[in-house]
Amino acid sequence: TYVIGEPCIDVLDRGCVDECPVDCIYEGSRALYINPDECIDCGACEPVCPVTAIYYEDDLPGELEPYLEDNARFFDEP
Ligand code: SF4
Repeated sequence: TYVIGEPCIDVLDRGCVDECPVDCIYEGSRALYINPDECIDCGACEPVCPVTAIYYEDDLPGELEPYLEDNARFFDEP
């Protein structure tokens, strides 16, 4: 799955939302989140992010690794 990290917080550019072919990027109150069960790893969202918030899970910089769990947790909530 691709993951949206800290740079998205309070930015919510939404350019990625328009690119995603399966509409798996959802909006929280302060950031956007990718649903890991729906993402098809196409990579279309990554280059359009103006703040470089999106990474493939294996390419996450160390400081953004917690966002893998963070994105998944967003979709666990009732
Ligand atoms: Fe959507 Fe593709 Fe980005 Fe996954 S990698 S969130 S499917 S645009």
